[in-house]
Amino acid sequence: MPCSADRQSGCFHSNTRASLPRNMIENSMFEEEPDVVDLAKDSTAFPALEPDEVVYEPRSSRLLVRGLGENDLDDEEEDYESSARLLGMSFINRSSTHNPSSSPYNRQAPPRLCSCPSARMLVVGVFILVLVASMAMALYFLPGCTFTKAGCGKANSSTPMEPSYPNSTNGELFPWNEIRLPASVRPVNYDLSLTPNLTSMTFTGRTVINMTILHDTKRIVLHSSELIITKATFQVGEDKSVEVKVLEYKPWQQIAVSFLEDLKVGQVCVLTLDYAANLSHTYDGFYNSSYNDKTGAKRVLAATQFEPQAARKAFPCFDEPAFKATFLVRITREPGYITLSNMPQAKTTTLPSGLLEDEFEQTGVNMSTYLVAFIVANFTSITRNVSNTLVSVYSVPEKKEHTHYALDTASTLLHFYNTFFHIDYPLRKLDLVAIPDFLAGAMENWGLITFRETSLLVGNQSSPLDKQLIANVVAHELAHQWFGNLVTMRWWNDLWLNEGFATYWQYTSLMTEFPQLDLGNVFLGVRFKALAKDSLNSSHPVSVSSQVTTPEQVSEMFDSVTYEKGASLLLMLKTTLPDGQFRKGLIKYLDKYRGSNTVTEDLWNSLTQVGVQESVSDMMRTWTLQNGFPLVTVSRKGGHVTLTQEHFLLSADNATHTSNLWHIPVTYVNDSCSSAPSCRQIFTLRNKTATLNVSDSVKWLKFNYMNTGFYIVHYGDEGWATLIDALKTDINTLTPHDRASLIHNIFALSRLGRVSFRQVLNLLDYATNETETAPLTEALSQLSSVYRLLDKRQEQRLVARMKVYIWGHFGQLMDSQDWGEEESVSKQELRSVLLEMACIYNKEYIYFCWFKNIYTFKIPGDLQRVVFSTAAQSDLRWLSLMEAYSSTTYDSEKRKILQALASTQDPQSIVWILSTGLEGGIIQTQELPLVISTMSDGFAGHLLVWDFVKENWDRIIEKFPVGSYPIQSIIKSTTSQFSTQTHLEEVQGFFSNLKERGSQMRSVQEALETIRLNQLWMDRNLPTLRIWL
Ligand SMILES: [Zn+2]
Repeated sequence: MPCSADRQSGCFHSNTRASLPRNMIENSMFEEEPDVVDLAKDSTAFPALEPDEVVYEPRSSRLLVRGLGENDLDDEEEDYESSARLLGMSFINRSSTHNPSSSPYNRQAPPRLCSCPSARMLVVGVFILVLVASMAMALYFLPGCTFTKAGCGKANSSTPMEPSYPNSTNGELFPWNEIRLPASVRPVNYDLSLTPNLTSMTFTGRTVINMTILHDTKRIVLHSSELIITKATFQVGEDKSVEVKVLEYKPWQQIAVSFLEDLKVGQVCVLTLDYAANLSHTYDGFYNSSYNDKTGAKRVLAATQFEPQAARKAFPCFDEPAFKATFLVRITREPGYITLSNMPQAKTTTLPSGLLEDEFEQTGVNMSTYLVAFIVANFTSITRNVSNTLVSVYSVPEKKEHTHYALDTASTLLHFYNTFFHIDYPLRKLDLVAIPDFLAGAMENWGLITFRETSLLVGNQSSPLDKQLIANVVAHELAHQWFGNLVTMRWWNDLWLNEGFATYWQYTSLMTEFPQLDLGNVFLGVRFKALAKDSLNSSHPVSVSSQVTTPEQVSEMFDSVTYEKGASLLLMLKTTLPDGQFRKGLIKYLDKYRGSNTVTEDLWNSLTQVGVQESVSDMMRTWTLQNGFPLVTVSRKGGHVTLTQEHFLLSADNATHTSNLWHIPVTYVNDSCSSAPSCRQIFTLRNKTATLNVSDSVKWLKFNYMNTGFYIVHYGDEGWATLIDALKTDINTLTPHDRASLIHNIFALSRLGRVSFRQVLNLLDYATNETETAPLTEALSQLSSVYRLLDKRQEQRLVARMKVYIWGHFGQLMDSQDWGEEESVSKQELRSVLLEMACIYNKEYIYFCWFKNIYTFKIPGDLQRVVFSTAAQSDLRWLSLMEAYSSTTYDSEKRKILQALASTQDPQSIVWILSTGLEGGIIQTQELPLVISTMSDGFAGHLLVWDFVKENWDRIIEKFPVGSYPIQSIIKSTTSQFSTQTHLEEVQGFFSNLKERGSQMRSVQEALETIRLNQLWMDRNLPTLRIWL
């Protein structure tokens, strides 16, 4: 899926796992049990969907959800003490109206009819349950009677249990009662004709679905959302086509056609649906977008974003990834526009109305509905031929000059992947398109990859750091053409098979093909972030075995664990297996499953089959099926080194400590050979404890070489002391990644309460001699987060001392940076971090940060943000920046100006940006999560932003669906710096009152956990900091 555009690297940094199933449950609470026999019959024939994957919502769920908050909607308007008011700030935007009924979530809520059962229904329900239970017990204890057909078949069949079906929109019973589709019908080909009208912002369509019957059935059930079906016809085999009635069940976005007679297995049928709809005004489905051209005129366009579940908003379809089919697309347009779709254009016909109809070739490969895409716009392109594939980059005409870097990068990477995977990209064309309004970073639609403009377009003169971002996103989306498009996960619970791989390949391919982009440090940072996320109780296994059914649960799968932990585990596996085995196994996997769907075990089996040693399955199951990761504690007596593993779980309230064990490929180096790859030794820790023997003469050991393993190491007091001594004696005794790994691990151990903050500071003493990017950026980012917590707690004396500490340790290095052009990406990364800190922590730097640079001809790209942000602190310059924001056509520059504007500490400007961002227009709504996360870092911003989010929640979830990454990001940025009981209660109160509008999100649990952990950290460490800083 779309990689987030909010950060340069990696994708997500927010996740928490709701422990309670939720949503779609009110309806079923008082139903009888569904007809299990019938459902199982319908589910067995289609191999891609096992019957047991059609998950029933637990009957108790509703009660559990209700238990979270019994208040009515009005209660959310409680007069909570506004944080901003506490500070004496007036919050302007308090008058926004709530409109719960228009939230996308509410649209899916079950009918009220079922959601408010009367006491009488309750009594009747309980009576029926007791009756059914008594009958079951009586049957069970009947002598000689069993539940087999031979035993009590007659008795059972005389009292069949009818499934309980919901009501369709027209009041008739809807013939299906599961949120997942039945597997009795398989779509084979879709013939789509679309006529969008970019003036009225509506479209009409005709979808012709050819399908085969896999199992006798009296119904066809598929997805449709917000489409008005105007006509439906059905044809079986060569029979005459007949008009049929379509029933709709809106809460699950399903439509159905029922038949009196069974459709028979093997029959071929055609369902034709004519429909009309509005172009979506959000960011998914078939949506409208606009931009102002260079003359200032408004230009409109229409584009699609279907992943994960929005193809159903553009055409009726079997919208689950395992229902792969071929597609033929036709789109009508006005002259002056072009259309694009997954396949090359086949022909254009002039219609009697004067409109033109473009027809695209039918896809030669089976693909999932979420990968279908089409665009109507006035874009222009540049093109190149790469190994029989025509690669093009499209943009609005004004930005054509900014497309060259993307074309070069895509061409190189297409060649790389073709060669590496031993399977050529299967389509004849590959388009990369920059869309002015686009929520995610990019989307891997087969043959028609869509991007945000900031993720694809870059001027030739832009800095290598800006280009690194573009290369990252292009590499990620191209990798999906194999991992995701060619081989697709069977269901969203295994999304990591798409996203973990695409993330892994984005770094690996770039490190191979574009070493000058220095992606090694970025990938290391991504692994650290994944560890942080996965250390919380609210995390989830990479491959989720519990329920992932509702749209919100599916959206929540797009998180850091899926992307970044997934990629980290693949790196660990790759570096553990003998040379070449990883690649061989992947080629086997792609080859075996091309065109079909997989589950995680299919991957491990392919990797095991090409190896000779330990089963990859046995090892990797311990990493993908359970939450979290291990802490390895090392203790040494002479030559005996004892390793002990336990679950690394941050917990503020004695959350259950698991007895999880992992098969850990523990790597290590020692003082006699410590930095070259050949020094690395490996030991597999499978049990709770094991001993490895080393020579008595070994002075120290460093574990997790280059931090390629997904675990944290504690060396004990003595072990840490010897490593710190070694670093103080010779900093180069360890690689920069190993030094960064030590810094990361000791901060993590401090959060866990295993080492004191004094020990953390002891290690950091070595860093006054540090010059490398990886360890320095890790140290500075850890110190910054401590600084921000203290700042938000208004511990002013400690904040001042922290500044002195940072300056004392890193000031010399900050002073030594220059402000000229710098070619090395790694040095740019370091310089921008150092100078941003300098400009925040040392007022004397303002001269350098702003006055000196603004008069120079060109500010280097990596320093633009710090220069602009310093400027934005003055009212006058803030206004000049606002003008520059509106006029620049350079997307990377525009984004940095926006971050600068959002860094203001002026409450009125803050409120204005937030309101404008939510409204859309001068500041696009797609940028709101970035604006919010930037503001949250500042003192004034973080309280105002939290108030803004609370007050505008309903409007926010209209734009960004509940569970989606932007919502995860907004929750994380607005709450992760709270550390007091008052804020904890306020956050808890706000979200529990939301009920179905977001109370059950994993990110809410994560937010609460994080605040508690911050509280605990403060309690533990404030005294130490007062003494030692
Ligand atoms: Zn992706």
